[in-house]
Amino acid sequence: MRKVALVFVLAVLAPSLVLAWLAVRSLRDQQFLLERQQSLLYQKVTDTLAQNISDQLAQQQQDFSAHVETLVASNGARASALQFDEQIRKDWPLADVGFSVTLSGTATCTITCPSPTSGPEAQRFLVDNGGFLGNEEAAEVYWNVNNSKVGFQSSLKNNDSSLGLNSLDSKQNANVPSLADNAGQNSFFTKGKARAVSPQSANYQQQASQANAPQDENLSKVIPAEAEFRQLIGNDTDGMVARFLQNKLKLMFWHRLSHDPNLVFGAQLNLNRLVEGLRASVQPDPALRDEICLAVLDDNARPVIISRPNFQAPWKRPFVATEIGEALPHWEIAAYLVNPAHLTQAAHTAELTLGLLIAVLVFAIGVGGWLIVADLNRQLALARQKTDFVSNVSHELKTPLTSIRMFSELLAEERVADPNKQRAYLQIITAETARLTRLINNVLDFSRMERGEKKYHFRDAELISLVRETVETYRPHLENCGFELECTLPPGEIPIRADTDAIAQVIVNLLSNAEKYSNGEKKILVEVSRREGPLPCAEARILDRGAGVPRGSEDRIFEKFYRAHDSLGSGIQGSGLGLTLARQIARAHGGDVIYEAREGGGSCFCLRLPLKMD
Ligand code: ADP
Repeated sequence: MRKVALVFVLAVLAPSLVLAWLAVRSLRDQQFLLERQQSLLYQKVTDTLAQNISDQLAQQQQDFSAHVETLVASNGARASALQFDEQIRKDWPLADVGFSVTLSGTATCTITCPSPTSGPEAQRFLVDNGGFLGNEEAAEVYWNVNNSKVGFQSSLKNNDSSLGLNSLDSKQNANVPSLADNAGQNSFFTKGKARAVSPQSANYQQQASQANAPQDENLSKVIPAEAEFRQLIGNDTDGMVARFLQNKLKLMFWHRLSHDPNLVFGAQLNLNRLVEGLRASVQPDPALRDEICLAVLDDNARPVIISRPNFQAPWKRPFVATEIGEALPHWEIAAYLVNPAHLTQAAHTAELTLGLLIAVLVFAIGVGGWLIVADLNRQLALARQKTDFVSNVSHELKTPLTSIRMFSELLAEERVADPNKQRAYLQIITAETARLTRLINNVLDFSRMERGEKKYHFRDAELISLVRETVETYRPHLENCGFELECTLPPGEIPIRADTDAIAQVIVNLLSNAEKYSNGEKKILVEVSRREGPLPCAEARILDRGAGVPRGSEDRIFEKFYRAHDSLGSGIQGSGLGLTLARQIARAHGGDVIYEAREGGGSCFCLRLPLKMD
């Protein structure tokens, strides 16, 4: 038994407890996982939008170059260069200031347009950019070359020496990515970088940092480099330069004429108009519209475009964000949860459901295990009882056989001359044979009942005479053993329908028990009566003055093989089948056998049978 319990604990209980513990642990990460999933989904949205905006800017630049080419084609290169500021502002609404630069030699640039006299806007532009465009000073710029015709990488290779890349590299500090690094990232406009999450949910933020999320999440990956204008344009035809002047972003497009490469035309963009042009594309997918709000954040993390009107959020703490890239340095596409509490609720619901499932599972395993152990216990007890039964029956067979053999030998060898003794020995042989027959009948009947093969032959009978006859056949044996047998039978008849042999077997079993468990008090009483009431029935009671059934065994004595007085302890032989058979026979007749403790000590076994209906 202990072995079974050990196997159960090791093979079932321990693994399921470990599994439950693991499941409970993973429950705690539910919200984190859910938020992680959401963040990946929304990150895709912001990445796509950042890419989309980069593409739109690339488109604008091509548009600008086309305008330049048209102007030059209609007015001539030199004339266009002189009036470029006015003309481009007229033609192309995104231009704030137009400029043209003439390149001469390898390091000199002359600003042809705008003229300082053409207005305050032009004056400010020249103050801000004169030195840089005139190639007199290096400036801190975010730059790259948009050259769809010539791959950026190859243009770098071609222009290595003319650009003075080595000297540029040496100027950059360790944190500044080299041009070669930039080259690996293809086009200027495809450089949207996902800024890892700076989430709205405090829980997520905490978990993410615990999970060793990158710590430089809030640091921009777009880094400026010091460059001179000539260095920057190299031999390329188009490009874009972004700079911060007085903490304000200034964005310029430039285009070099293909047939006159010494002329470079450019324009400083009006950011407000540029932003207006982007507004329509800042919308999440309709399926996500109720979940997230998208915003374009400028370099000060101020929203310049918001997808949901009147939406308010801690702008500096988006759920996910992606940098647009060098085109709009430090600008981001940010996504905010419309209802941040919703995620927590969903996680709690998932946590609760899973928790309940785990609890039910553990409970089911516990109950299942308990049932298995209980069943095993029962089976083991039954196996033990069967073993006891075999040894008990063998013993019961052996005792009468020994007496029969001994007395029959004495008689056969004519060693007993006294006729009284001879009669007594013959009576013993008869009684022992009857006992053997009873035992064997009990065993055979029991096995028939177990197999469901026991057959009854019901017929009309009368209980009083049946009891009288059975008791009288047993009386000589009892009286020989010194018992006083009293049989109280009422007058008249109690009609029943019964298999009389089976009922007689019940009565003999009960009488035999009264004899066996008499405990020296050799008085047996048999009573028969008709019991009136809502369900009238016939009753035959066998009463003795023995020790009675030990307390707690009153029901169990009717179980197969069960013995309240075991052979070893009490010295009383038995198979544990007598009462089992008695009850089964009575029940097959629609009645029962009941035990009651007798007042004044002893047992009362009552056989109840239904009355025969007329
Ligand atoms: P057994 O062969 O052991 O007598 P039974 O099924 O007839 O088997 O009885 C089951 C148990 O009930 C007995 O072992 C005994 O402990 C108890 N028992 C039966 N009859 C009596 C009785 N008259 N007085 C006390 N105990 C009894």
